[in-house]
Amino acid sequence: MSDKRFPSVFVSHGAPTIAQQVCPVTVFLKGLGDSLGRPKAVLCVSAHWETETPMVSVATEPETIHDFFGFPDPLYQIRYPAPGAPDLAGRAAELLAERDIPCAVSDDRGLDHGAWIPMMLMYPDADVPVTQLSIQPDDGPAAHLALGRALAPLRDEGVLVLASGGAVHNLSFFRPGSSDVADWARRFDDWLAAAGAGDGEALVDYRNASADGALAHPRDEHYLPLLVALGAGGGAGVEEAKGRALHRGFMDGALSMAAFAFE
Ligand code: ZN
Repeated sequence: MSDKRFPSVFVSHGAPTIAQQVCPVTVFLKGLGDSLGRPKAVLCVSAHWETETPMVSVATEPETIHDFFGFPDPLYQIRYPAPGAPDLAGRAAELLAERDIPCAVSDDRGLDHGAWIPMMLMYPDADVPVTQLSIQPDDGPAAHLALGRALAPLRDEGVLVLASGGAVHNLSFFRPGSSDVADWARRFDDWLAAAGAGDGEALVDYRNASADGALAHPRDEHYLPLLVALGAGGGAGVEEAKGRALHRGFMDGALSMAAFAFE
């Protein structure tokens, strides 16, 4: 087991169909697992687990949750049998407590598709323990930056903080298979890549700082994991992490598949 220092990583998970596609983002995610190497455990912050108070899962055998509707049957047959990471969940709760951030515990929460799809592509052997931390859409971007900052020490403990959401995510513009990308979507994606390189203040205030922010994200939930990754990518203090794009691209019309590393 290595205690190498991992960057914190934000990935866009797109539509569940990528689980069974060969396309640029799946090629990227498969390579990402190889290039990062194998962490002791993964703390995944997915857009698809929303709670009022931060919550971690201590499930030892987390089930694969198929939390999507109307997709082809084979997607519902996929299981990702990675072990849980109850020790990491406890450590995350402890780090949050040190910053006076409350954290509840779930005994049985499994892995939603925001977690298992990138995990399955990055670590196909399902041998890296993984737990999830929930997001709190009512609390907004700044609270998620603080959440990430509290978790920064995990990067020195051999843990990969993997945040999974969507860089541009407005399902009103979801067009399966379309490569027609709206101008506002490209503009926001470019803005995000530029701001991600070092303007944390703009990232927190994205709805005002970018003219396209509200259209790119009707709700915050697919954006908030990015703030957790930004926060976790910094040092244990409050210095801002620098982001770098690991992958750019669009699928299904206006879904950005952008991914960033922060450190
Ligand atoms: Zn999603």
